[in-house]
Amino acid sequence: MCGIVGYIGHREAYPIIIKGLQRLEYRGYDSAGIALYDGNAIKLSKTKGKVSDLKNKIENEISTDGTLGIGHTRWATHGVPNDVNSHPHYSNSGDLVIIHNGIIENYDSLKKELIKRGYTFHSDTDTEVLVNLIEEVQKNDNLKLGKAVQVALNQVVGAYAIAVFDKNKPNEIVVAKLGSPLAIGIGDDEFFIASDASPFIEYTKNAIYLEDEEMAIIRRGKKIKVRKIKNDVLVDPYVQELQLNLEQIEKGGYDHFMLKEIYEQPSAILDTFRGRLLSNEGMIKLAGVEDNMKKFLAADRIIIVACGTSWHAGLVAEYIFEDLARIPVEVEYASEFRYRNPVITEKDIVIAISQSGETADTLAAIKLAKSKGAFVFGVCNVVGSTIARETDAGAYTHAGPEIGVASTKAFTTQITVLTLMALRLARAKGTMSSSEFRHHLIELETIPGKVEEALKSDAYVKTVAEIYKDSKNCLYLGRGFNFPVALEGALKLKEISYIHAEGYPAAEMKHGPIALIDEHMPVIVIATKMGHYDKVVSNIQEIKARKGKIIGIVTKGDTSVKELADHVIEVPETLECLTPLLTTIPLQLLSYHIAVMLEKNVDQPRNLAKSVTVE
Ligand code: GLU
Repeated sequence: MCGIVGYIGHREAYPIIIKGLQRLEYRGYDSAGIALYDGNAIKLSKTKGKVSDLKNKIENEISTDGTLGIGHTRWATHGVPNDVNSHPHYSNSGDLVIIHNGIIENYDSLKKELIKRGYTFHSDTDTEVLVNLIEEVQKNDNLKLGKAVQVALNQVVGAYAIAVFDKNKPNEIVVAKLGSPLAIGIGDDEFFIASDASPFIEYTKNAIYLEDEEMAIIRRGKKIKVRKIKNDVLVDPYVQELQLNLEQIEKGGYDHFMLKEIYEQPSAILDTFRGRLLSNEGMIKLAGVEDNMKKFLAADRIIIVACGTSWHAGLVAEYIFEDLARIPVEVEYASEFRYRNPVITEKDIVIAISQSGETADTLAAIKLAKSKGAFVFGVCNVVGSTIARETDAGAYTHAGPEIGVASTKAFTTQITVLTLMALRLARAKGTMSSSEFRHHLIELETIPGKVEEALKSDAYVKTVAEIYKDSKNCLYLGRGFNFPVALEGALKLKEISYIHAEGYPAAEMKHGPIALIDEHMPVIVIATKMGHYDKVVSNIQEIKARKGKIIGIVTKGDTSVKELADHVIEVPETLECLTPLLTTIPLQLLSYHIAVMLEKNVDQPRNLAKSVTVE
């Protein structure tokens, strides 16, 4: 995920682009760059860091005149954030320049082919491969830029919103979209390009939102031409009149970043799969695991270290790894692990999980594990973060920037990566038959759609939130794979609504928490139709007998819990080990709505920080 901006018209492009990038910084902020065309040449400046760093650099480095330009604020997926990997990227001849938001899944094979044909690469990005592929197609077949982009994109697997121009044709920008957003603002004899409308809202209210698999050729002073990338059919684009204000646009029309991120989960999980879950081929590809398979197969056990929500993702992974791959797993709070003189050997694998990749305690735990000779694997969201650099290998979650302090899409994408790992290891160890493996892959692939369906409970969850928003305490219960989801549900509520909540394994209730249950205690019970369903139903009976208020999270079509519970929220059916990816959705929504109703600061709850870089 990143922000892209472009301009072609009669005004100076630079001020529009730099301001636009600042507005898009919530989409990515590890590096930024701009390319301008001044009538003679391309002037390009880029740097690691914030848009403000770019602004300082540019104003000393290049003259900023020119009425055509493109700019990018990056959230790295391929290659660490540094000056060279920043966008825009030139093609080998220096004629073409591109900005890109997304992931080119087959970049590696395309790159190898281009290297054979004499191309050289300066960055580690997938984007530089794309711009050279366009150049190769353009030169080989003597095509115009628009056609070359189209032919090249038909060879690409992945997601993109791109803007590219050719210094020999400086009156045109070609844009294309698949999976990542791209809006075109239409002014009087001028056009704006951006990931959302915030960079151009003060110049025009008219915008085209490209659909997936569409491209547009934007020529100075001409009408925009939109085509289908696959079959070249001309499209009559729908020009919308924008109604939203600047802040609403940045939040994608949602009231808070947290809600936007909850709703982004289907696409975030898809991004986590990208290039890794190859269900047609019956394969999972995770380079960090593949390259170290011997170590994984020889490991005596896996120790997962993490904090907060990531620790809950680790607990889910414990159930999944043990169940599918039959590897013993221990899950540790990084802050405890680092100080308790743990027994670690060279045959241990330590998996460190952190959204930011900067969590101080997790980092200290990694250093300790490494000093004892363990192999350390990182699961982070932020590319090039300290944990990503300090670990021996790893897998990114590719969830895109998470702005809301209470983690949502980071949690589900961490579980997704860890599930892919467990499945890959299960296959390698032979603990799963190939038909079972395929069945899991096919089911995993349906999860984004099922998350989408689970999100449809939103309006109903809001009515439940209204009833319980003034509660002083809440209990969350779950068993098996869903016990950690109960912990995570309770944490979400605490974090943003400041209501005291506790998560428990459902059967543990009778060893203490049952004493708290009376008619004032809402109990959220995850009771999906699998595993220990009957046992959970018995637990629900016990709560009911003590007049507790029951909110059941159930599998679609459930009848038993419906008879007992005060409210039921349905999620689609899936394999038991994948249920956490669905049951967590209504719990996120419940805490969100309660916090909004209590007028709390949802995106920046008191006393909390997004990335805990201190002990
Ligand atoms: N995959 C590209 C990169 O890593 C673009 C990432 C983005 O969307 O910011 O540079």
